[in-house]
Amino acid sequence: MATDLRLPTDRIVRPDKDRFLNEENPFEAMMSRFDRAAELLDLEPGIYKILRHPEKQLTVSIPVMHDNGEVEVYTGYRVLYNTSRGPAKGGIRFDMNVTLEEVKALAAWMTWKCAVVNIPFGGAKGGVICDPLKMSVAELERLTRRYTAGIMSLLGPDSDVPAPDVNTNERVMAWVMDTYSMRMGHTVTAVVTGKPIEMGGSLGRREATGRGCMIVTKEALTHLGMPIKGTTVAVQGFGNVGSIAADLMQKEGMTIVAVGDRTGGVHNTNGIDVPDAAAWVKSHGTLEGYPRGDAISNDELLTLDVEVLVPAALENVITTKNADKIRARVICEGANGPTTAAADAVLDEKGIFVIPDILANAGGVTVSYFEWVQDRGGYFWSEASVNERLTDIMKRSFHDVLKLAQQHKVNLRTAAYMLSISRVSTVHKLRGIYA
Ligand code: GLU
Repeated sequence: MATDLRLPTDRIVRPDKDRFLNEENPFEAMMSRFDRAAELLDLEPGIYKILRHPEKQLTVSIPVMHDNGEVEVYTGYRVLYNTSRGPAKGGIRFDMNVTLEEVKALAAWMTWKCAVVNIPFGGAKGGVICDPLKMSVAELERLTRRYTAGIMSLLGPDSDVPAPDVNTNERVMAWVMDTYSMRMGHTVTAVVTGKPIEMGGSLGRREATGRGCMIVTKEALTHLGMPIKGTTVAVQGFGNVGSIAADLMQKEGMTIVAVGDRTGGVHNTNGIDVPDAAAWVKSHGTLEGYPRGDAISNDELLTLDVEVLVPAALENVITTKNADKIRARVICEGANGPTTAAADAVLDEKGIFVIPDILANAGGVTVSYFEWVQDRGGYFWSEASVNERLTDIMKRSFHDVLKLAQQHKVNLRTAAYMLSISRVSTVHKLRGIYA
């Protein structure tokens, strides 16, 4: 029998709601959505209290010898938000704007994300405050290895499994895997995902987040009775998620009228040739100066008259400052937390169909799960098989969330939180509290 964590006199005491209107703080953005879903679910107070706290938070100082002989000390974090459903899972980002609050929010989002697509993982995130664009490859390697050594006590295929995130990639994962393996005394491929294919990575992993965005956008357009061919799309962010989502959406017949990166955007109503823009970025480092379109700002890109908007960069780009100017009919959140909690209400009022981050960008962690399974089994799947299984999971999850949204007359974000929180809370009830 499941444990009842409800005490007779217990009731949910929520902090002052206005506290969550701080648009800058992603943890508060996460918590306000969590609170709303918890209320609708009538979540047991004991579970409510447990799920408001990260299980573990580790801060590490990371001394790195720079190429010029000077030592710099960086700060890094790893947060395990919840591991009730399985090993903690989530990326590592290298960025100047990393904060503990952000990493906590991202770790919570990973928890809900894994539960929405029903893969057997909890949620984690890591981050190091640094500017990787200003560091040499050798410096980045030393930073990565020392950070890995610093969070070693958390890592392991059964306890915490990192992956790439903002400004980290396959090469960084190879260093994490090697550092962990050297410390263990044997090769442990399943300790990270998003690795190079040659050392236990999965086919299809690099494209998986963008592919997942494409799959759920198609499901949303079909649900809304909108065509796929010729549908106009603007994509903000041209990294691993944005560039691949744009490319795959274009291959499905959608017209990508704008793409943008940190230097600004390019707009072309006749459509941008995505592989051509990607080739430009490869040779020039950014989209800046791309000649086959008009230069626009990121703010202009977000408010273009398009059918689909894909924010695929960082948090807090859709806020109360610009939400009422957004003209897209569908928003597919390729990034984590691109919309502030206060902006949700504005988008709802405008009738914009938002595919929330914890569903829209779950393709990456889904194929990370496949990679982990393949590493543990020592048997590797074809790319077609990976993509087919990913498509099944994304479609099924989209419809699970949509169904719940229709049942409860809530938006997809609230429904996605409700689905994941109920899955996590069921496991908490079954497991009870270890004492
Ligand atoms: N960083 C990605 C995300 O935010 C992938 C995480 C993973 O594969 O563990 O979903």
